[in-house]
Amino acid sequence: MIEQYKICERCVMDTSVPDIEFYEDGRCSLCKHYDDVLVNEIHDDEVGKRQLESLVSQIKRTSSAGKYDCVIGVSGGVDSSYVAHLVTKVYGLRPLAVHLDNGWNTELATANVESLVKKLNIDLYTEVLRWSEFRDIQASFIKASVSNIEIPTDHAIWATLVRTASRENIKFIFAGNNVVTESIMPSSWLYGSKDFRFIKAIHKQFGRVTLKSYPYLSLIDYVWYFLLKKIRWVPVLNYLTFVKVEAKQFLMKEYGWRDYGGKHYESIFTRFFHAYYLPEKFNYDLRRSYNSALICSGQLSREDALLELDAPPAPSEVLEQDRSYVIKKLGFSEEEFSKIMNASPKTEADYANNHRIWEHFSSIVSWARNHITRVE
Ligand SMILES: [Zn+2]
Repeated sequence: MIEQYKICERCVMDTSVPDIEFYEDGRCSLCKHYDDVLVNEIHDDEVGKRQLESLVSQIKRTSSAGKYDCVIGVSGGVDSSYVAHLVTKVYGLRPLAVHLDNGWNTELATANVESLVKKLNIDLYTEVLRWSEFRDIQASFIKASVSNIEIPTDHAIWATLVRTASRENIKFIFAGNNVVTESIMPSSWLYGSKDFRFIKAIHKQFGRVTLKSYPYLSLIDYVWYFLLKKIRWVPVLNYLTFVKVEAKQFLMKEYGWRDYGGKHYESIFTRFFHAYYLPEKFNYDLRRSYNSALICSGQLSREDALLELDAPPAPSEVLEQDRSYVIKKLGFSEEEFSKIMNASPKTEADYANNHRIWEHFSSIVSWARNHITRVE
């Protein structure tokens, strides 16, 4: 039976999400989850402000002997750049900025990172992935026909942040993840990036080279770093009023930050992933989820969101250019790539994974999050 097309009356999520549900009030299961659950993760009130200030004081007290107070990830994007500003200028912490070079950054993203760290006068550590290995993992994910081909990058970023923090004996990682601009992401669209078993399974089946230097975190590593070494992550943007448009304007004015149009378009591969791969092969448009989060947090009107969705995610010549570039850079032939694009989509269930364990881990994560907010 072919399901009839339906779109939520509050946000812009629609039946392109396989397991979406709609309720009598016109809302969908995703924005209902935002209203009922995710909104509780936002602490942009006086209580949240005090909690964050008290955490910052605690960090300053405990890390005064070291060179750095915390680690921050910098991608050149709005969220992470704004976190760098907050941490350094507003809270007076001494961060070590960490950047992952996976071989796909645009010149604009690199320029944004360089100008930011220079103006903030903070140290930058760049982890450069070994291209022969990373290319092999990325190509494996595309061959595997799974939707989230950004897992190899996202996992490496997170692993690099955690490993760098541990190496430098830093206990806190300030992250740019936030509820108000990115929380409505259907799990049926994108499998999470924490599961190294899933990465290994896909690479084992489709990869050709041995992995020697790819930064990863196994389940044992998680236990080691988060429970024994007690590294904590702080989703700082959830503790203040984070208005994306204003943050962007501010960064442009104060740091010479430049826009590259489109969320996460700081990397050519990411733009290919959002604007070509997902819409073409899976009929997923991630702008739906980002815009829905902005609608729920009151930063975007539903009309403007729909208007944006009417336009293609990127101009057709950019899509074509990115497609050719990715095919060439990952070493596919045109024929091979077309065959993959036409192959049936797969999910995480088609490969070995630790999904079930991660479901239990999420309760540990929420415990850890609560723990962060309860710092005296
Ligand atoms: Zn909705």
